[in-house]
Amino acid sequence: MSKKSKKKLKKKDRQTSILKSAPNSRKSSKKAAIKLPADRNGHSEAKAKKGRLVYFFGDGRADGDGKMKPLLGGKGANLAEMTRIGLPVPPGFTITTEVCTWFNAHGKTLPKELDQQVNDAIVRIEKSLGKGFGSLSNPLLFAVRSGARDSMPGMMDTILNLGLNDETVQGLVAVSANERFAYDCYRRFIQMYGDVVMGVQTLPGEHHEPFEAVISELKQQVFPKRPLNEIADTDLDASSLKELIVRFKKLVRERTGRDFPSDPHEQLRGAICAVFGSWMNERAIVYRQKYNIPTEWGTAVNVQAMVFGNTGTESCSGVAFTRDPATGEKVFYGEYLINAQGEDVVAGVRTPDPVATLQEKMPQAHRELEDVRAALERHFHEMQDFEFTVENGKLFMLQTRNGKRTGVAAVRIAVEMVKEKLITWQQAVSRVPADQLSQLLTPIFDRKAIKNAEKIASGLPAGPGAATGRIYFNANEAEAESHKGKVLLVREETSPEDIRGMLAAEGILTARGGVSSHAALVARQMGKVCVCGANALHIDYHKGILTVGDRIFNKGDFLSIDGTSGEVYAGEVKTAPSEIVQVLIDKTLDPKESATYGLYAQLMGWADKLRRLQIRTNADQPDQVANAVAFGAQGVGLCRTEHMFFEGDRIDAVREMILADTKEGRENAVAKLLPYQKGDFVGIFRSLNGLPATIRLLDPPLHEFLPNTKEQQAELAAKLNVPVEKVTRRVAELHEFNPMLGLRGCRLGITFPEISRMQIRAIFEAAIEVQKEGVKVKPEIMIPLVGFAKELELQVQLVREIAAELTKKHNVRLNYLVGTMIEIPRACVVADDIAKEAEFFSFGTNDLTQTTLGMSRDDSGSFLPGYQSLEIIKQNPFATIDTTGVGGMMKMAIERGRKTRPEIKLGICGEHGGEPASVKFCHQLGLTYVSCSPFRVPIARLAAAQAALADAS
Ligand code: PEP
Ligand code: MG
Repeated sequence: MSKKSKKKLKKKDRQTSILKSAPNSRKSSKKAAIKLPADRNGHSEAKAKKGRLVYFFGDGRADGDGKMKPLLGGKGANLAEMTRIGLPVPPGFTITTEVCTWFNAHGKTLPKELDQQVNDAIVRIEKSLGKGFGSLSNPLLFAVRSGARDSMPGMMDTILNLGLNDETVQGLVAVSANERFAYDCYRRFIQMYGDVVMGVQTLPGEHHEPFEAVISELKQQVFPKRPLNEIADTDLDASSLKELIVRFKKLVRERTGRDFPSDPHEQLRGAICAVFGSWMNERAIVYRQKYNIPTEWGTAVNVQAMVFGNTGTESCSGVAFTRDPATGEKVFYGEYLINAQGEDVVAGVRTPDPVATLQEKMPQAHRELEDVRAALERHFHEMQDFEFTVENGKLFMLQTRNGKRTGVAAVRIAVEMVKEKLITWQQAVSRVPADQLSQLLTPIFDRKAIKNAEKIASGLPAGPGAATGRIYFNANEAEAESHKGKVLLVREETSPEDIRGMLAAEGILTARGGVSSHAALVARQMGKVCVCGANALHIDYHKGILTVGDRIFNKGDFLSIDGTSGEVYAGEVKTAPSEIVQVLIDKTLDPKESATYGLYAQLMGWADKLRRLQIRTNADQPDQVANAVAFGAQGVGLCRTEHMFFEGDRIDAVREMILADTKEGRENAVAKLLPYQKGDFVGIFRSLNGLPATIRLLDPPLHEFLPNTKEQQAELAAKLNVPVEKVTRRVAELHEFNPMLGLRGCRLGITFPEISRMQIRAIFEAAIEVQKEGVKVKPEIMIPLVGFAKELELQVQLVREIAAELTKKHNVRLNYLVGTMIEIPRACVVADDIAKEAEFFSFGTNDLTQTTLGMSRDDSGSFLPGYQSLEIIKQNPFATIDTTGVGGMMKMAIERGRKTRPEIKLGICGEHGGEPASVKFCHQLGLTYVSCSPFRVPIARLAAAQAALADAS
């Protein structure tokens, strides 16, 4: 920072102390009571200005506003917006996300112009507060925080109390008349700055964060007779804190070889660089990958005047939600810690108190908070998650953002806000992330099993649902063990470094921390079951044991947790289906008795009014089809007939067919399969009750049906009464180097037409039988892996022949279609030719991705994660459609297919059909339907409605 501004600061030393003059009484906080203006709907004229890197907010004015999230990040934009609507926001400034991009592209340096703009903003803050940055008599201190466009809780870095050094701390002592408070701020600053900026962090093999280890050592020396876990940070007095500061500085010197910086401007520069740099730290990258946040977005840096929740018992820091983020209930929900700074609440170091108790302890602040709560919802029309500080009785707002919530809460809040006329029903549909609906379908504990289970502890219900698994106490181990079976991650408290273990675990259990602790926030967002703050638990990381009273659990033992009630149980407790599943699938719960079902049904009803895409299901069993229809499927989009070949004894007939040397031999074997196949289709047509069913002829390579091991081959030979050599030889003949590119798909039906004939006959005979029962049927026969029009032509000929024969024989009319899968690039190129025979196209995007990218859908796991971290591919293309490559192929096929047959029916049946971003893409392409697994049908319904809404806007 420039010398000029340093000079200016000296002058500021004479200015009056806001802390001294700041009202330390209820009277003054009354005077400062917030006047809440009428909602202005957040409209403002603020616009990004060329060359402006820094946006100021304070004193009711702001350069930015709530709509500028891409440039100012979510936090910066909302700080500006709260300032504009008159909420009590300490002044500050936001450095834009563009600077972050510049920083990372220019070898982690800052643009030249930034210094001056930062200094100008500092001067405005100094004027506003009458304090000076670096002032010895009345120092201005800053909080430096990250803030990306979408919030990434805990993933990046924060530094509080910046500006303190051995001299300015004296100024803080003087203005606050509170020595302990001043030194507490100073030690916190060294601790955060030392960690985040100077990299003094836990080394491999260490179990405790190094600064925390120094604190523990000092606590034990100061209070030798008290157990360590009973000594609070607040028990350390000013002289102990001074000693702590000396030890902290020593630690920094030992670990980094450098002295802790004392120049506030150098401190600020270091903090800004560290926050920008944290955009590229490992946990932020993992988080971005999971939530598809582009690296280009970058983070903003918010520098804001400190307010203090740790001046004594008249001060506190808290986090609150305008509604309960776990259940969605409209209650004021949150927690706070008296005499603490904000990070203490989120870090879960002490378990905070529920916000309701603030009513007794600080009634005025509580009233103001209630006003703020209402004002925020009125203004943002969304559930808000906000941070506040009460400094000597006066309320300050430090942040607000749309609150993360569970799937259950998302549905409840959206539906109830419509009733409260805060939003429209269309907005409600757009508010619930489609993926989150899966949380409404997740299991709960079986009622009987839970009655008999041994409850060992309880904590805070932080992420709903039921989870059971083997317990592990560190994230790496939990991740490794998760490949062998279900695991629970059990920690004293979690930190952002644990993200991989949290992702891998079924559920998360912590001994400390509240409902807004890191564990709780992240678990909710991931839809993980979570219980936190179960303080009866004592974890010994060294021994790998968990003690609860006189019970000891070793790592690898089973525990069960209920994230809806907060209970913890010993052992493995049986789970039961969710209420929605009980109503729709099991039919064991009356819909009127389930409030959750009522909310779900309302939302889905609205979604169905909006969507244009139809939703079908990939299912090949009558019960799967029935489940999918209960979830709202409008037909079967893919029945993989090969799955039926594995059931019961029929695999023997399949194997006999494969081993047969002659056409007659094959026909004999195939004839044995016909009644089975027909039975399957009868069941499916009945379950569909008039809805269409796309049934695909046999697709996988034949070797998949033959036994691999010598013993199994001998067994089969004996069963079929053939020499074992014959079986072994056939297995060898069918071996393929690239099975996915060999004798499969329509190539099978062309090489062995008797297989196709049997399947076509089974479909039509079943259709005729069910039709005769008075049930409508709509079979759609689908030919897989077509690349040449002639392939389709040959298979369609068989379909037409058999249809003609059977309709004549039974004297019936059959309403059926015949079409093809589009799953290899050649099919896309010659789609106009293929459409001459095909009445429909169904995109097999699993194979189309594999063949377009030349990547094996089975083996790409070995390099895809690496490709994703290098951002060669942003998302797993087998989960989310690669819109440019595979999507480009689909576009070509659609255009060319429509040239020949303008009314051609178009669908998708690859796994992408149930993934929200891909559903949106399919909507944009103008497909008729998407098809997905039964439990993803609700997700696809909602995603399709959201895609239609996006069109409208
Ligand atoms: C596909 O390839 O997308 C498809 C649905 O077929 P399968 O997954 O059975 O190959
Ligand atoms: Mg396929």
